Amino acid sequence: MPDKTSSASAPVVVTGSASGIGAAIVERLVADGIPVIAADLAWPADAPELLGVQRIVLDVRDPEGWACVAELAAAETVASGALAGLVNAAGITRRARLANVTAEDFELAFAVNATGPALGIQALSPLMAGGASIVNVGSAAAVTAHYAVAYAASKWALRGITKTAAMELGPRGIRVNIVHPGYIETPMTASASAAFRDINVELTPLGRTGSPAEVAEVVASLLSPATSFVTGAELAVDGGLTSHGGGLPIARAIS
Ligand code: NAD
Repeated sequence: MPDKTSSASAPVVVTGSASGIGAAIVERLVADGIPVIAADLAWPADAPELLGVQRIVLDVRDPEGWACVAELAAAETVASGALAGLVNAAGITRRARLANVTAEDFELAFAVNATGPALGIQALSPLMAGGASIVNVGSAAAVTAHYAVAYAASKWALRGITKTAAMELGPRGIRVNIVHPGYIETPMTASASAAFRDINVELTPLGRTGSPAEVAEVVASLLSPATSFVTGAELAVDGGLTSHGGGLPIARAIS
């Protein structure tokens, strides 16, 4: 039986929550009545208030920033006893290809996409109890070759962090999983070329892009007790993009 020490009304921390996938996750959790500590680099002054959401400014690269989130989370969990979860959705892209990528591209991508989530797990897992759940947001680029080399490498690193954290925290009943979105319509992808979108749609068996809400639904499920025996797992939310391993254009070519 799953350990239910974490109560349903305990809060979840979500990073990268001012935009795109992170914002959709906050909305999805709020709809379920789950309190959220929403963290991001900055918040627009006119951002509408959401019932049950506390906003905090955080640069995920900064251990002291994480200490402030932990302090807030500890205060917020006095009643519920423990923190229910953490979603590491903050991320940046670096689009330089191998011929032009710089050391700075690698440093930035790794700091935000890999070290940041690891620092978050380190800072917040002490506030969690059995039944808590951590979800990292990886990428289709974490399981395949990808033109944006520093981004891809940082997301491959996040898979290693996920599996190591699942191993380390499993004995305490804390689960750690990673989702791999394909092409999702967000400000991040809006800044990519039209060619990138078109080829993704072409290579996606479902023949379309995904929405942030579709990723949020899967993340909410991984946070919930419905997935109580799932840890160290990787779940593609990509319309089948990474499932065919090149089989799709081959199948089309011979039909
Ligand atoms: P987005 O740009 O809309 O949102 C990313 C958020 O992360 C922003 O609010 C930004 O301010 C925040 N952020 C960036 N650096 C930060 C830092 N140092 N500290 C705190 N917050 C920071 O992008 P998105 O598409 O919603 O991406 C969310 C996650 O999903 C990212 O990890 C991204 O790599 C991943 N992802 C997105 C797609 C996609 O198609 N959109 C596909 C695969 C993976």
